[in-house]
Amino acid sequence: NFEHKPAQSAVALELDGLGKSFAETKALDGVSLSIPAGRFTVLLGPSGCGKSTLLRLIAGLEMPTAGTIRLGAADITHTAPAARNLSMVFQSYALFPHLSVAENVVFGLSVRKVARKQRNERLMRVATMMGLEALLDRRPGQLSGGQQQRVALARAVISEKPVCLMDEPLSNLDAKLRAEMRVEIRALQKRLGLTMVYVTHDQVEAMTMADQIVVMNGGRIEQVAAPDELYMRPATSFCARFIGTPPMNLLPADLIAQWAHLPGGSLVGVRCEDIEIAKEGHPAQIENVEYFGADRLVSARIGEALVTLRQPAREAVPSGAVKLSWPNAAIHLFGPDGQRMTA
Ligand code: ATP
Repeated sequence: NFEHKPAQSAVALELDGLGKSFAETKALDGVSLSIPAGRFTVLLGPSGCGKSTLLRLIAGLEMPTAGTIRLGAADITHTAPAARNLSMVFQSYALFPHLSVAENVVFGLSVRKVARKQRNERLMRVATMMGLEALLDRRPGQLSGGQQQRVALARAVISEKPVCLMDEPLSNLDAKLRAEMRVEIRALQKRLGLTMVYVTHDQVEAMTMADQIVVMNGGRIEQVAAPDELYMRPATSFCARFIGTPPMNLLPADLIAQWAHLPGGSLVGVRCEDIEIAKEGHPAQIENVEYFGADRLVSARIGEALVTLRQPAREAVPSGAVKLSWPNAAIHLFGPDGQRMTA
């Protein structure tokens, strides 16, 4: 059946102690992770954090130097890529320029010797689903970036593999198309009940698409959480800095009298929307105001630290010396090791 919907709690992929070294570089170091079936998991992190390497290990395009990968009940750590029950969409789309859209989409089925009649049936169904009917005879060079992306997706979907891996599939598209494709890919994943593992360095993509986000840094996992949990309770100062536009304000604790007793190197975190200009509060100097229509981003200096706050545009434009205040409940504390201290 095309629309396979696995039980929500089932684990599709289990990664245990995965490591990968390239000569001197430790690309991955002790990565353990459960990827739930039928859910959208995003691997998120800055350039070089190891997210593509992790995806390539799952795909079987690289072999780990430590650890195991299980797909369902099977240990696939050393299984050849083609024998793993998964599909992959690359950033470059990897379409064959000399083949038509139709030939590109069914390529994997042809290789697997699926009968022509069944191949054509599946092609028509996927082409309809992806809005590719009118484009089937064209070559990739005659398509827009968004259309090429859709062909690459169709090729993954037609394989009917329960697990789909995607490496930065939207990075070659302009902002408007990216926003449209985010919605399209998410809808497709839900509709087909696919287990998606999706690599991006774009936190907006991660926040808008994911059921679970895996934040990576320096070859290790910093936090695994749902988008709202990650935003509201970042486990480390790295996650606090990485999620949110603008990122969370992090002030040296010794700047804030109330927290000056914390160990040196501790940080007090406050989101920009939790800070307001008030009658009482921390003395600050306004440095810059950016207008965004509905609101403004105001930069202010508290001692040597710069903080950003979001202010509704209907309020008066602030300038000069002000007082900044935030509720205690909005505070996130991080120890000198970067780990969250607040409950
Ligand atoms: P980006 O977003 O820039 O693609 P990434 O998070 O996907 O980054 P990886 O591509 O997984 O990061 O790379 C992780 C580390 O491993 C980097 O330091 C990278 O230079 C290194 N690395 C990756 N592939 C190889 C390779 N084939 N040979 C040597 N080093 C590699």
